[in-house]
Amino acid sequence: MAQTALISVSDKTGILEFAQALHALGIKLLSTGGTAKLLADAGLPVTEVADHTGFPEMLDGRVKTLHPKIHGGLLARRDLPAHVAAIKEHGIDTIDLLIVNLYPFESTVAKPGCTLEDAIENIDIGGPAMVRSAAKNWKDVGVLTDAAQYPVALAELKADGKLSDKTKFAFSVAAFNRIADYDGAISDYLSAIDFDASIGQPAPTRSLFPAQSNGRFVKVQDLRYGENPHQQAAFYRDLYPAPGSLVSAKQLQGKELSYNNIADADAAWECVKSFDVPACVIVKHANPCGVAVGKDANEAYAKAFKTDPTSAFGGIIAFNRPVDLATAQAVNKQFVEVLMAPGYTPEALEVFQATKAKLNVRVLEIALPPGGATDWDNGRNLMDVKRVGSGLLMQTADNHELAASDLKVVSKKQPTPQQLQDLLFAWKVAKYVKSNAIVFCADGMTMGVGAGQMSRLDSARIASIKAEHAGLSLKDTAVASDAFFPFRDGLDVVVDAGASCVIQPGGSMRDQEVIDAADERGVVMVLSGVRHFRH
Ligand code: 5GP
Repeated sequence: MAQTALISVSDKTGILEFAQALHALGIKLLSTGGTAKLLADAGLPVTEVADHTGFPEMLDGRVKTLHPKIHGGLLARRDLPAHVAAIKEHGIDTIDLLIVNLYPFESTVAKPGCTLEDAIENIDIGGPAMVRSAAKNWKDVGVLTDAAQYPVALAELKADGKLSDKTKFAFSVAAFNRIADYDGAISDYLSAIDFDASIGQPAPTRSLFPAQSNGRFVKVQDLRYGENPHQQAAFYRDLYPAPGSLVSAKQLQGKELSYNNIADADAAWECVKSFDVPACVIVKHANPCGVAVGKDANEAYAKAFKTDPTSAFGGIIAFNRPVDLATAQAVNKQFVEVLMAPGYTPEALEVFQATKAKLNVRVLEIALPPGGATDWDNGRNLMDVKRVGSGLLMQTADNHELAASDLKVVSKKQPTPQQLQDLLFAWKVAKYVKSNAIVFCADGMTMGVGAGQMSRLDSARIASIKAEHAGLSLKDTAVASDAFFPFRDGLDVVVDAGASCVIQPGGSMRDQEVIDAADERGVVMVLSGVRHFRH
């Protein structure tokens, strides 16, 4: 008996060509209203589902395919005589292929101003029901839920007259994933709406944090191991990742990325892409150990490396500009674990292909957000998630950008334009340094980074010790503190080390004591008004 395909798609991309090819293979076509019209208009013989079931589409399309003649045809097991007898008794024909894509719920709710009514009308009922029926009966039914599967199916149908079990199983898994994504999107959307008793209906606004969160992730790759070799691990991405985020990286060469590589690469990339001028960030253990801006990538790298050449060994190096030959040659002098940039010249890539050992360097290419390095509307990761015990902490990502006009000078001494520039640079870097963060900078480069200490005083001391080890003088540097100074002692440490201007959020009970200390020491103090804890 000829095979039958049921086609019911909202997104009609590629469907006509696919249906034509199915028809050419002798497959009978069954279809719902809009899809049937499209196929019939193109001259294809197609039976409308309503004619097939003897029951009209009704309730504005809410009921189209919800009929035993459809679900019986999808769910009947061909290997069970009882099933075969039952459908025969009720005059139900089997359906062998199901091609469905659903009402566009996700894109409807993504539109600004989408009303609850619009959203609800875009919840597909019959489509997912059919997809589930077909996917459950995967051995007997091939279920296609994505246009990318059309050519795969066609190739097999042309070659063997049927789909292989392997493909049918893969399609079934993809179908259930699609349904889970779809229902997850509906659940996320509706769970973010409270019922407003004062107006007697659901509130017109939605919460950022739904009552139930359906974290929807897709595996990027398995990893050899986790943070340590005895831990198993894999890398997942958001279902809808932000453009320009690490998950879109293409690995051009090198050893497989490890769990720690990915964590560090993310820290480096998030930091480097926050600069609009050419910048280089070197990361070790999730903290920048050198950050600099320059007239080009090469100069930025040379400066970033100088901050802490010892720690830079085996580091993750990120650029926000393409890497050219000169930059590649400079980077090549140090041991580098991962190199990241929006692009590489062919000569630059050759540098890392010169020897077998060099071929181990993991080279990643990542596009910056579409509008360039500062296209924040497109390139931001919106949510920040941290696992705790059996729970999650969710927050909006720390996307605060400080403008010069946000700064409040609280010291008697006013900053020079150069100092202001260095303070803003230091502040930008401090945001990406684990708390407590103290960052000394001068001329667009980090001069000493104190990270991740339980005491701000220790971070300040460590930053200055590191500068000394690197042979850098902190005289007349700008320093950023990611959170306020609770006492004047922290300020004294950074001024003793050589800082002549300081940026900090302010907001301490003892702000005045700290500001007085700045005046007493003759340094500039500027308040940012925001804090950048990072844990
Ligand atoms: P068409 O454009 O062919 O009229 O409609 C195709 C869409 O209808 C597909 O997205 C399909 O998932 C959906 N659909 C199929 N059957 C039903 C049904 O019984 N109820 C609802 N609400 N949608 C259906």
